[in-house]
Amino acid sequence: MNLILLGPPGAGKGTQAQELARRRGLVQLSTGEMLRAAVKAGTEVGREAKAIMETGGLVSDEIVIRIIADRLMQPDVANGFILDGFPRTLAQAVGLDTLLDRLGRKLDCVIELKVDDKVLVDRITGRFSCAKCGAGYHDIYQKPKKEGVCDSCGSTEFSRRADDNPETVRNRLMAYYRETAPLIGYYFAYRKLHGVDGMAPIGEVAAALDKVLNTVAGQ
Ligand code: ADP
Ligand code: AMP
Repeated sequence: MNLILLGPPGAGKGTQAQELARRRGLVQLSTGEMLRAAVKAGTEVGREAKAIMETGGLVSDEIVIRIIADRLMQPDVANGFILDGFPRTLAQAVGLDTLLDRLGRKLDCVIELKVDDKVLVDRITGRFSCAKCGAGYHDIYQKPKKEGVCDSCGSTEFSRRADDNPETVRNRLMAYYRETAPLIGYYFAYRKLHGVDGMAPIGEVAAALDKVLNTVAGQ
């Protein structure tokens, strides 16, 4: 199963992709994670992306398409992948089509997580993750079961993203509506689009995603 999770920053794509990957043996491909790793490693891509990510703008199509192309050629994605945060522009969507054609792969579905804008700032500014294994949390909506201890790996180190602040969020939302929201129409025309209510609690969103994927798998 190869799918895209689409939605604005804070919609819950990473949260759902992480769990879905575990439940279904798929690989989560988050361009945001890959870019943050490049920034941390100080690579050429990282140096180019850093300033753009800090302001909440979009990194160039050329860079992200190259990153995804390299990743899709690795053997661990053979069983299926979940794209989280990619594509974000029409050029990236077209680039992905070309790439998948070349690899003889296809997209099974695109799921839009539908959320009200008013919850996004709250979700983003309360987000944190385990510094060791990357498991995602929220100050209010998804606390670790034992305060200060990661549910997944037991680590007591957590981190917050530098771009998860109210100023950057505004720019990221504008980038979403300007560049990424048109992809909803693109994938609707492609007859691959499904919508899921992303306002529901995390477990209910996960159940709704499973329902869609079971339907798609049975087609
Ligand atoms: P995205 O990857 O789309 O930017 P995340 O998955 O990182 O968004 O979610 C943003 C924050 O909102 C995280 O802290 C997460 O724990 C929380 N969150 C995700 N889904 C929900 C939900 N359905 N209800 C409440 N909070 C959620
Ligand atoms: P995310 O982790 O998906 O919230 O992405 C964090 C930041 O990385 C974004 O605000 C962008 O600056 C950059 N980024 C991630 N994915 C892409 C993409 N597909 N295209 C352009 N920029 C991206």
